[in-house]
Amino acid sequence: MAFELPPLPYMYTALEPHVSARTLEFHHGKHHQAYVNNLNNLVPGTAFENTTLETIIKEAEGGVFNNAAQVWNHTFYFESLSASPQAEPTGKLAEALRKQYGSLDGFKEGFSKAAATLFGSGWAWLVVKPDGTLDIVQESNAGNPLRKGLKPILTCDVWEHAYYLDYQNRRPDYIQAFWKIIDWKVISSRF
Ligand code: MN
Repeated sequence: MAFELPPLPYMYTALEPHVSARTLEFHHGKHHQAYVNNLNNLVPGTAFENTTLETIIKEAEGGVFNNAAQVWNHTFYFESLSASPQAEPTGKLAEALRKQYGSLDGFKEGFSKAAATLFGSGWAWLVVKPDGTLDIVQESNAGNPLRKGLKPILTCDVWEHAYYLDYQNRRPDYIQAFWKIIDWKVISSRF
């Protein structure tokens, strides 16, 4: 069964001015789609036919891993964004962030630093560790924390294709804009 590109849960114009329609047209319509197409070309004849993305992410190597992880990572990222986001986390996540990082702002500062200082292409993640505590991790290229037994609840795509049309080399400006469109309702529900 072929993998499919999930439609965005909003219009390409929905996240403006923070992320432009042009960026989303390329990011979802071209890049995300290309990872889906590549994966569908690579999987037939391998042990990963008829498995899930999660299984591939945990077990595969090389191109199959890279494209499967990029499909999953982008879906997870796009689903976290909204034109009318809930501005703050609620419930258990709000409590856990406060306990671990002092405040929501304290967490955002640490996460933003991880996203800004990640060298080259990759993803910054907020994850839940097996002991239930939170951690901020950097992953290069297609890296996904599921591979290390961690549960992702938030990610920021810092590949240049995520921001270059809107922010050029100003990755920190993109990260500041990212916080304005993060839907904490979605993030809180993942914890
Ligand atoms: Mn991307």
